[in-house]
Amino acid sequence: MLREAALRVTRPRVAVLSAVHDHPHADTESIIGAVREVLPKVSHQAVYDVLRALTDAGLLRRIQPMGSLARYEARVGDNHHHLACRSCGVIADVDCAVGSAPCLTASDTLGFSIDEAEVIYWGLCPNCSPDSPAAPETSREESRD
Ligand SMILES: [Zn+2]
Ligand SMILES: [Zn+2]
Repeated sequence: MLREAALRVTRPRVAVLSAVHDHPHADTESIIGAVREVLPKVSHQAVYDVLRALTDAGLLRRIQPMGSLARYEARVGDNHHHLACRSCGVIADVDCAVGSAPCLTASDTLGFSIDEAEVIYWGLCPNCSPDSPAAPETSREESRD
């Protein structure tokens, strides 16, 4: 993937790519934690720099739901959208509503040529939903970042 994007293959880049691949929608701190399992001495700054380079090269996608830290994922280029839980903050992928960008038609383009609509569907995940058989207090993960 790195070579296709004409990026030099370095150990931090490989480690960050595979960490994001293994932990979709992880925030920077979680990615640093995962990278340090492979490269214990890597600095925060190095991981930040790699995340930016890989995102700029289109190998990673950065999303930032309202009230959340930036999250990264390796699933790029398919215009998928996200489901976000208002209660526990979990984020899940959902396919593009119509199959390709821009997905939604603006009520008024105001002359913009629109190529993308980024959608976040907000609500409660199955664990946090009051209708769910699983009670939120017992099923919710308390230790997420
Ligand atoms: Zn939830
Ligand atoms: Zn996603």
